[in-house]
Amino acid sequence: RPLVVAIDGPSGSGKSSVSKEVARRLRVAYLDTGAMYRAVAWDCLEKGIDLTDGALVEAAARALELELSTSPDHERVLVRGTDATDAIRDPRISASVSAVATNLGVRDELIRRQRALISEHGRRIVVEGRDITTVVAPDAEVRLLLTASEEARLRRRGAQLGGTQSDEQLAQQVLERDAKDSAVASFTRAADGVYTVDSSDLDFEQTVTAVLGVVHA
Ligand code: C5P
Repeated sequence: RPLVVAIDGPSGSGKSSVSKEVARRLRVAYLDTGAMYRAVAWDCLEKGIDLTDGALVEAAARALELELSTSPDHERVLVRGTDATDAIRDPRISASVSAVATNLGVRDELIRRQRALISEHGRRIVVEGRDITTVVAPDAEVRLLLTASEEARLRRRGAQLGGTQSDEQLAQQVLERDAKDSAVASFTRAADGVYTVDSSDLDFEQTVTAVLGVVHA
C-alpha cells in the first residue's frame, strides 16, 4: 500500500538525518530533493554557466544527467557519471544554490523528476525538501513540517560544520539562505492539513519518534 511521507523544513531543522532514519525504519525509499537543486548548481559552476543567466541555468537543469541514490543507507549523487556526492555539500554550493532554486524553469523540471521518482518507487518513499507537502506531493499519505527555533538551527549547523565558522558567519549563511528560500517555498508555516513537529527541544531519537508518531496516527 502506498506510503508517501512528505517532509518540509528549513536548514538545520534536522530534516535530512531524521527523514533518512524514518525511511529506514519504515523500510521505504528516501529522496533528498535538496540534493537535486545542489546538483544543478554544481553542474552549472562546473560548466562555467553564469547563475544569473536564467535561460542557460534552466537549459542545464533540463539536460542534467543525474543519478541519485534513493537508499537511506547510501547517499550517492552522480552528475554525468562523476561522483558529486561530497562536492554538492561544499559551502560554495550552499551559497549559490538559491539562485538556481528561484529559477521557475529549474523548479518545473526538478518537480517533474521528483514526481516520476515517487511513482517509480511505487509511492513508498520519504521525500524531503521545501515544497514537498505543498507542490510536489500534496496528495501524500503523510505531510509534515519539521521546524526548529533559529537558535536550535544555528547550533546544529555549527556542530555539523565542526566549529569551523564564527557565530556571525554561521548566522549570516543560514539566515540568508532561509530568506532567499522563503521566496520560492513556504516552509515557515504549515499548509492546511500539514502536521508540525518542532524539534527545538527534542534530540534526534525523540524527533524520529515524533515523526513516526505522525506517520502511524
Ligand atoms: O535541503 P538542502 O539545504 O540541501 O537544499 C538546498 C537548497 O535547495 C535549498 O536552500 C533551497 O534553495 C533548494 N530547495 C528547494 N526546494 C526543495 C529542496 C531544496 O528550493 N524542495
